[in-house]
Amino acid sequence: MAGTLFVVATPIGHLDDFSRRAEQTLKTCQIIAAEDTRHSGHLLSAYSINTPTTPCHDHNEGQKVPELIARMQQGDHVSLISDAGTPLISDPGFRLVRAAHEAGIRVVPVPGACAAISALSASGLPSDRFSFEGFLPAKTHARKQTLDSLKKDTRTLIFYEAPHRILDSLIDLNEVFGKDRQACIAREITKTFETIKKATLGELLEFVKNDSNQERGEIVLVVGGYDAEQEVENTEATDKLLKRLLQDLPVKAAAQLASELTGIKKNELYQRALQLKD
Ligand code: SAM
Repeated sequence: MAGTLFVVATPIGHLDDFSRRAEQTLKTCQIIAAEDTRHSGHLLSAYSINTPTTPCHDHNEGQKVPELIARMQQGDHVSLISDAGTPLISDPGFRLVRAAHEAGIRVVPVPGACAAISALSASGLPSDRFSFEGFLPAKTHARKQTLDSLKKDTRTLIFYEAPHRILDSLIDLNEVFGKDRQACIAREITKTFETIKKATLGELLEFVKNDSNQERGEIVLVVGGYDAEQEVENTEATDKLLKRLLQDLPVKAAAQLASELTGIKKNELYQRALQLKD
């Protein structure tokens, strides 16, 4: 009989967030395929798990997958783990799971921690429909393009973010989504310096700017979806403001002042002011 591939979630910080079933699965399988065997050594020794481990990550999955599939075909049970949380969620493992399906091997998830879901559950943002977006591109131009494509998405958006990029991403999010969009920073979930802060994008930018500790550790950014009604209200309010400013100021100055007051791009307001003036 062929063995099984168990996809086992591990903690994202707090070592106690590890299920009894996950522990038993790792103890009783024949081999653990780990993203980083040294990193996982800490968890395995804390739970006295002595099962042999083998590295399985983005760089060796090509050769490792056939080897693990062969072992399962011979009857061995294999557990797949990543450094933290649920494998395959911005983590390696996809090729192994796909190959197991193709080989007719049973795939069994052993659920547990996942930073994206933990952040969403505590964010105070709508959780009925959401989109997990993984990591945003590192370069500003590509990041803004991605954000632009998500600007009108009505679902709650979940991003993983590196600490050294959180400030730049918040700046771009403010520019593309506007400073009034609701969002939540979930940092160091389950760890000593856990921070869950819900506010507008504008407020979150100030919060991170004013406290360099917020640029440390692991971060999930949850952003509320596009709200068409709010957009109409905002447009009406902006038009009202522009019309009033245009009574006393030339178009350029009115757009400049309105931009300072609303956070909306000056160019956008300049074009709108021209239309209102006609
Ligand atoms: N597979 C993992 C999961 O299930 O969440 C995610 C792995 S991904 C390589 C690592 C990213 O997940 C981090 O950069 C951060 O964005 C997020 N993350 C992981 N642990 C976290 C934690 N304790 N608090 C906040 N974010 C975390």
